[in-house]
Amino acid sequence: MFWTDTPDAPKPAPPIRGRHTADLVIVGGGFTGLWASIVAAERDPGRTVAVLEAEVTGFGASSRNGGFLEASLTHGLGNGLSHWPSEMETLLRFGDQNFREIVEFVADNKLEVGLEETGMIHVATQDWHNDEIIGFKEAMDSFGLPSQLLGATEMRAEVNSPTYVGGLRDPEGSAIIDPGRMVWALRSYAEARGVVVHDHSPVVGISRVGTQLDVQTPNGSVASDKVIVATNAFTRPVKKMRRYIVPVYDYVLMTEPLSDVQMESIGWDGRQGLADVSNQFHYYRLTQDNRILWGGYDAIYRYGSAIGTQYDQAGNTHHKLAGHFFDTFPQLEGLKFSHRWAGPIGTTSRFTAAWGTSFDGDLAWVGGYTGLGVCASRFGATVALDLVDGVESARTELGMVRKRPLPWPPEPLRFAGIELTRRSLAKADAKGGKRGPWLGLLDRFGIGFDS
Ligand SMILES: Cc1cc2nc3c(=O)[nH]c(=O)nc-3n(C[C@H](O)[C@H](O)[C@H](O)COP(=O)(O)OP(=O)(O)OC[C@H]3O[C@@H](n4cnc5c(N)ncnc54)[C@H](O)[C@@H]3O)c2cc1C
Repeated sequence: MFWTDTPDAPKPAPPIRGRHTADLVIVGGGFTGLWASIVAAERDPGRTVAVLEAEVTGFGASSRNGGFLEASLTHGLGNGLSHWPSEMETLLRFGDQNFREIVEFVADNKLEVGLEETGMIHVATQDWHNDEIIGFKEAMDSFGLPSQLLGATEMRAEVNSPTYVGGLRDPEGSAIIDPGRMVWALRSYAEARGVVVHDHSPVVGISRVGTQLDVQTPNGSVASDKVIVATNAFTRPVKKMRRYIVPVYDYVLMTEPLSDVQMESIGWDGRQGLADVSNQFHYYRLTQDNRILWGGYDAIYRYGSAIGTQYDQAGNTHHKLAGHFFDTFPQLEGLKFSHRWAGPIGTTSRFTAAWGTSFDGDLAWVGGYTGLGVCASRFGATVALDLVDGVESARTELGMVRKRPLPWPPEPLRFAGIELTRRSLAKADAKGGKRGPWLGLLDRFGIGFDS
């Protein structure tokens, strides 16, 4: 993985051994778990907090993603509007506040995490994409959000690809970061505030013992008053999460650094995050040393919600992605890819996070941000903390928090339904965006499959 393939990667934290106690245990050391530990320590500096991570901090999606830090809590405005039209204003406000607070947190603590507030451009590569982005713009206009339609020539002046036929500039509420460095910065910030992080400490069971919860790993355990489960796509410790969150593998390529001549050939002076608007979309961005991260397109669900490092390399998908890269930037023919990887995205049927509680509210779980969790995970973590702390807030009143998504069906229906949806989405892309009867039916129920 590019983001963690660096000689200054921190050493893993020591695994847990023996019996311990804590006021709060967090299971999972990704963005959600780390933010939960930080917000908890800041809310109540006397509280003892332990994070138990099965592998190493950031092992999951948090160190493997594209590093698009986007304010949306709802996987985009359109998706939010289709589920919570009357709450959209509030959801936008919470999303913007969460984004701003992350940007300020990085600046105030002088974190070197490569944060660049570049904004986004949604790129049209087919004529029907232009209709889609006009729809995006109208929705943004209705909430007073700034955006600008770009014709083909204007779009190519921003970033030079012969495939572009238009674009929509979305200048606010988007940044790019180095997610690996962000994970490490959050871990060290948390540790400096007394949070104890244990890597290589997979939680294998959680049970009630007296008034506390006993959180067990193979070599140690913690008796804790409260527990937050932040395992996202890896939903094992809480049965209920498995109904709502499925792991979907998303694939990424990273190029070698571009030379000055290659950079000049593509323009991209604004360094914005880019994504096309197909159902099977690509997302891409520059790194600080001018590589291009290129990801997306295939989103692969494996039977039984299977997850594992054996899925990190997929010859066909990576090969396909490389082909699409050179279709987009033919002037970069010959450029090499230095890294390729994949990671599990935790996906719900409504593409946004879901929350739940058990053990009389002493345990809260959260996950399922789909492909937009880099920023939303901080909000997800804050709400999970509200739930175990018994804080009733405008956040916990949200319909998105109170109501869970429609559960995924059990296997074999789960696999069959997702495959049918994937194929229907590919067909829609091939037919100028025309959604067939299966997608029409899902749309009516407000459910779907996305990455
Ligand atoms: C390839 C890819 C690209 C993406 N691109 C973007 C993007 O550009 N922008 C964006 O906003 N989002 C993106 N996402 C999604 C985003 O990365 C996630 O939503 C976010 O990182 C979720 O963070 P998390 O902490 O909830 O989950 P994770 O980072 O997955 O963390 C869960 C952690 O729990 C640990 N764990 C699991 N089981 C146990 C157990 N039993 N005991 C202890 N620990 C356990 C795991 O090892 C893991 O470290 C992308 C995801 C992928 C995979």
